[in-house]
Amino acid sequence: MRIIRTVAELKEWRASTNKVGFVPTMGAFHEGHLSLMRAAKSECGTCVTSLFVNPTQFGPNEDLSRYPRNEAADAEMAAAVGVDVLFCPGADEVYPESFTQVIVSGVTDHWEGASRPGHFAGVALVVLKLFNMVQPTIAYFGLKDLQQCAVIRRMVKDLNVPLEVKYLETKRTADGLALSSRNRYLSTEELTTAHEFPDSLRNAISEISQGTEEGSALRTAKERLEKVGMAVDYLVIVDPATMKECPASHPEARIMSAVRFAGIRLLDNMPLA
Ligand code: AMP
Repeated sequence: MRIIRTVAELKEWRASTNKVGFVPTMGAFHEGHLSLMRAAKSECGTCVTSLFVNPTQFGPNEDLSRYPRNEAADAEMAAAVGVDVLFCPGADEVYPESFTQVIVSGVTDHWEGASRPGHFAGVALVVLKLFNMVQPTIAYFGLKDLQQCAVIRRMVKDLNVPLEVKYLETKRTADGLALSSRNRYLSTEELTTAHEFPDSLRNAISEISQGTEEGSALRTAKERLEKVGMAVDYLVIVDPATMKECPASHPEARIMSAVRFAGIRLLDNMPLA
C-alpha cells in the first residue's frame, strides 16, 4: 500500500489507474470503515481511502483537538484489507485557501444539521474537494451517518458530480452498538449501558410492527433511554432521501436518533421494514 500526502502525487498516480473505489474517512479505523474499503476493493479492483480529520466540519465547541488519531495503526489495517492508496493530506494541502462554500439545503434543516450548525457545509466542501482530487468511479459511505448520506446524494445529483455513490449498512458490535471512532472514549461500564441505544430502537420497531401507534413506541424508547442517563436530542422516523419525518409504513422509512451519553454524541438508525 502506498501512502500519498500531496494532491500532485495523487494526480500522477490517478492518471495510471482506470477504475477507482473511494472511501473518505477521518481515521481511527474499525470494522465499519474496513467494510467500505473491502467493498471498494472487490467492486472496483483498486481502493483509495482518504484519512483527513476535516477541521471545517467541527464546531467551535466540538472535539477536533481530541479526535482520535493513529495513522500508523490505520495504515496497517488499511493495508491488510487491500487498500492501494492511503491518501493522508495535511490541512494546508486540502485548504491552502478556501473562499467557496458548498451549502446543501433542505436535507440539512433538521437533526444533525440543527444541532451542529455548519457541520454539513464542512462535510460537503471536503467531500466534493476529495472527489475532485481522487476522481473515483464509485464512492462508498456508511448509512450509520444517515443524514450525511442524504447530503452526499443531494450534492452529487444537484451538481452532476460524475461518479456513482454506494451506501452500506452499519457494522455493529456483537451486542448491537453501532461501531464509531468515538466509542473508544467510553469505559467498559458505559459501553455496556450504551447497548440500550440500539436495543431501544429495535424494540420500537418491533412494537410498531405489532401494531403499537408510532408516537407511543417512540415515547417508550425515549423514556427507556433517559432512564439510563442518555439525553435524547431527537428520535424520529424519517424518509432517508428527504430527511423529513414520514409514517412508519413508508417503504424506505428508518428510525433515527442521536443521544448525548457520557460526554459523547451517539448516532444510530435502522430500517423499519
Ligand atoms: P468517519 O471516519 O467517521 O468520517 O467515517 C468514514 C465513513 O465510515 C463514513 O462513510 C461513515 O458513515 C462510515 N462508518 C462509520 N461508522 C460505520 C459503521 N459502524 N458501519 C459502517 N460504516 C461506518
